[in-house]
Amino acid sequence: MASNALRTGLSIGGGVLERYADWLPLTEATPCITLGEGSTPLVRAESLERATGADEVWLKLELCNPTGSFKDRGMVVAVAKAVEQSASAVLCASTGNTSASAAAYAARCGLRAFVLVPEGRIAQGKLAQAAAHGARVLAVDGNFDDALRLAQELTDQLPLALVNSVNPYRIEGQKTAAMEIVDSLGDAPDLHCIPVGNAGNITAYWKGYCEYFHAEIASRRPRMLGVQAAGAAPLVHGHPVEKPETIATAIRIGAPASWDGAIAARDESEGAIISTTDEQILDAYRMLADAEGVFCEPASAASVAGMLARHGDGSLAGQRVVCTITGHGLKDPERAVESVTADVVEIDSDFAQAVAAIEEGLQ
Ligand SMILES: *Cc1c(COP(=O)(O)O)cnc(C)c1O
Repeated sequence: MASNALRTGLSIGGGVLERYADWLPLTEATPCITLGEGSTPLVRAESLERATGADEVWLKLELCNPTGSFKDRGMVVAVAKAVEQSASAVLCASTGNTSASAAAYAARCGLRAFVLVPEGRIAQGKLAQAAAHGARVLAVDGNFDDALRLAQELTDQLPLALVNSVNPYRIEGQKTAAMEIVDSLGDAPDLHCIPVGNAGNITAYWKGYCEYFHAEIASRRPRMLGVQAAGAAPLVHGHPVEKPETIATAIRIGAPASWDGAIAARDESEGAIISTTDEQILDAYRMLADAEGVFCEPASAASVAGMLARHGDGSLAGQRVVCTITGHGLKDPERAVESVTADVVEIDSDFAQAVAAIEEGLQ
């Protein structure tokens, strides 16, 4: 079949649309696009096992997706459906990663992309991605919540596809991460830790776990531990936060669009949504880089910070845990430079000086 030849030419092994076709709302007319998203690594984290007493702690490295965040899983479905529905352009509000992903998949499909970002509040790497892929950036004088409201108004009035996670195709695509975890481990974990901003992802994971459970591919479902930043924790407080503040820009959201989905995930899983301070987030961020070799962006470290805040007393004995690492550390290089003390020694181009610096470094 011609479409098969086309598929193999697009990506060897296929992406989310091909691997999880049976679980996605695809039709004959949905183009099988991919940038090689999904199939991300699941790696053990022994330092976190020691810290929590858990039998196993696994990191789902969603930072390995093509644009460096999990957003690609949902974006590939949303953009494929936009193409199917003959949209000529996509639009989103974004704290950065959604715009990077929308811009990349739109470029791949020859669509125009418009991204609304809160001015001055988006990490440099993410802005660079949107620019590289030729998206038009509307820098909004307001926060993410303002930008999302504007995006919804615009797509109500104009013939543009809204590709925020209020688009149900985004959630459908993102649920495949939970399915991959079950496919890899042979069953669902006991506990799943995940950062929460607009709350689309926790909603999506819970949907994925539930669908596999009902299909009897998984024998159980995990408790979901959602983690917000203390200055942007509406789900913890039970009401929206007017002026959310946190260094973890990807979760700097005061009025999550998927509020009900997050609460359902929490309650149905007998889990919790908690908050951690920026300091705890940065401690986890540094620990992941230093002890596990995983360089993520600050928001991603919230899942680990939350797990440590709640279970640093060893209370996860006997359990298997998965933490989602949502986005790449290179997205926010300024934060990295600011928050770690680089170990730099200045020397002349001189053998003896180099040896001295190395010997001192080995002590
Ligand atoms: C989008 C994003 C989040 C938050 O996900 P929500 O679905 O908005 O809750 C967390 N971390 C990173 C890196 C993100 O890009």
